Amino acid sequence: MSKMGILIVISGPSGAGKGTVLKRLVELDPDNYCLSISATTRSPRFGEVDGVNYFFKSKEAFEEMIAHDEFLEYAEFCGNAYGTPKKYINEMLCSGKNVILEIDVQGGLQVKEKYDDCVMIFLMPPSLKILEERLIERATEPIEKIKMRMERASLELEFIHQYDYLVINDILSDTVTHFKNIICAEHLRTSRTLFDIL
Ligand code: 5GP
Repeated sequence: MSKMGILIVISGPSGAGKGTVLKRLVELDPDNYCLSISATTRSPRFGEVDGVNYFFKSKEAFEEMIAHDEFLEYAEFCGNAYGTPKKYINEMLCSGKNVILEIDVQGGLQVKEKYDDCVMIFLMPPSLKILEERLIERATEPIEKIKMRMERASLELEFIHQYDYLVINDILSDTVTHFKNIICAEHLRTSRTLFDIL
């Protein structure tokens, strides 16, 4: 197994279940996985905590982070800005942890340009109909925002071919197993492992 951690990009429409899957993955194996915490100008949803789910920032504070070159990538999504702070990611990768970025496709493609050995995984619900039902059930956004997110989901699907893996999130435990298997196989790639035995 390679000793460096792997940078993993997870994208997929909101409502695909990325948060739930990743939470479970990290809970099961906290020594090997960690989640990057993004900064955003979006307001916290009920139950979201600053510094845990996101670093919630004003637009001005976000702009300042851009000016200080603090982001690995950043993008605008449905009217809000989101960005991955650089600090922390390299440290974690060097310590051997697999670092997961849960980001949209624009951000994912920016990361791929900078880290060409990152692993890109796209998570999808079983169908777009189920996606809409999940977003309505979640009830965290007004209906016009849900519509915006559905439109955005269709747009993001156009980029699916740029991703290395497509995982359908139907049964949570199966999805988590698929993720673990992907990362296990990625660690065994010759390009990562050969370096360790020379
Ligand atoms: P939400 O508002 O549902 O938490 O996130 C909306 C979208 O922003 C999701 O697709 C999520 O993956 C993406 N996102 C979260 N953090 C980042 C980030 O740091 N960078 C980018 N590019 N997208 C992000």
